[in-house]
Amino acid sequence: MGQPEREWHLTLTDNRPIQFLLTNRYVQPAVHVVTVSIFAWAIWSAFMGPQNPDTNFGSVAFFGLWWSSVMLISLVVLGRVWCYFCPMGAIVRFTQRFGLKRHFPMFTGPNARVFGISLSVISITAITFLFARMPMYKLGVVFSPRLIGYYFLSFTTLTVGVSLVFQRQAFCRYICPATGVMSVTSKLSPFEIRQESETGVPCATLEYQSEYLSTDRRCVSCMKCTTQQPDEDVGLRVRWPGIAAVHQRIPLADEALLVIILWAVFPVDHVLGDHAAALVPLGEPWSDVIAYSVSVGAAIGAYLGANALGTWWSSVDWEASFTRFAYAYLPFSIMYMLGNHVIPGLMEEGGALLNVFFRGIGVPLALPEALASPSTIATWEWVSVTIWPLIAILWGVAIVWYSAKFLTKSDQQAIKAIAPHVVLLVVSTAWIIGLFGPLH
Ligand code: SF4
Ligand code: SF4
Repeated sequence: MGQPEREWHLTLTDNRPIQFLLTNRYVQPAVHVVTVSIFAWAIWSAFMGPQNPDTNFGSVAFFGLWWSSVMLISLVVLGRVWCYFCPMGAIVRFTQRFGLKRHFPMFTGPNARVFGISLSVISITAITFLFARMPMYKLGVVFSPRLIGYYFLSFTTLTVGVSLVFQRQAFCRYICPATGVMSVTSKLSPFEIRQESETGVPCATLEYQSEYLSTDRRCVSCMKCTTQQPDEDVGLRVRWPGIAAVHQRIPLADEALLVIILWAVFPVDHVLGDHAAALVPLGEPWSDVIAYSVSVGAAIGAYLGANALGTWWSSVDWEASFTRFAYAYLPFSIMYMLGNHVIPGLMEEGGALLNVFFRGIGVPLALPEALASPSTIATWEWVSVTIWPLIAILWGVAIVWYSAKFLTKSDQQAIKAIAPHVVLLVVSTAWIIGLFGPLH
């Protein structure tokens, strides 16, 4: 299914400096020298710096600023722009030149059926995300700079190992824990940077039909298509947030599964995880690890249950419904993280985080610890449990409603197909924000 007609767009390459930045083949390698240097310095500092996560450069760079703030905010606003800067992506491209250049099994269609859903090699990224996320909080990695050093060193070793064997950025396509998250979350962004037409340049991600730069979909921003086709315009498209989830070029059940896993590990586990852990008669960290698995199982089970009810009532195809309706749960998953962690975290200690980061790279900065006043923070706390989740629900319902239009012949059938998902979304959100009692 093609992309919808653009409503508004700006041709970035009409501006000469921007055209140079986007099409000159030396610009991104220069950026990578900087980002790989900061990455290496952050790992070194994680081991050798102070072992207080609030003052350690590696800890602040990786988890205080990058993972929660830079990644999530940039994703929701602009899609996969992070891949342009990513030091891991730079390591992949550099390393694979010296490797065996073997073919990684590529996505060309479904490979296996689970619960009547066709899954492919793309689901590996759901598994790597689950396993990458688990140690962060369940094994306490984020609280120990030295463990953060080991964590990123392990990923770097995996990245180099995979790239020494496989070609075409196999790590980025199928293994990077962030790649699947970025692919689904970028569908919410109101902006997309993309070339105006297919370029015909052989692309690392050819199986996803990504033959032109796009911060949407699975393009890894290697800039091959802009540097090899410098005369093709690159534009900034503005669109309805979430329309890309409705008008999917290649709807994938694997990505729907990843959306449900995001729902599980972001909002659901934040509430259910604590309660489940208290019931597991094992000490930490096993009680937390088991509770994490319970959250994932409960979220997938609840989604399958809603899907079963909806398809039974409306006669909509089971797999098509599974693939499209998962996006109903995505806005709340992302907005929960932004509203409860990223935004209040930046308000309360954003200045301190920036001070540690910039001092770590030799730029003295002395911002106040909090970037917002206590009254602003208190107002935000109120917004985050009232208007914020309401917007998330309305956004999710709008996405699932327009998605249902693709699968049904009448409004009545569409309502029957999505009703169980809307009920599940509303009830679970009310439970997560504590409307049924003090859960936090
Ligand atoms: S896919 Fe992952 S490793 Fe590759 S460039 Fe993007 S964020 Fe980096
Ligand atoms: S060649 Fe173009 S479309 Fe393909 S990954 Fe690189 S930037 Fe993206």
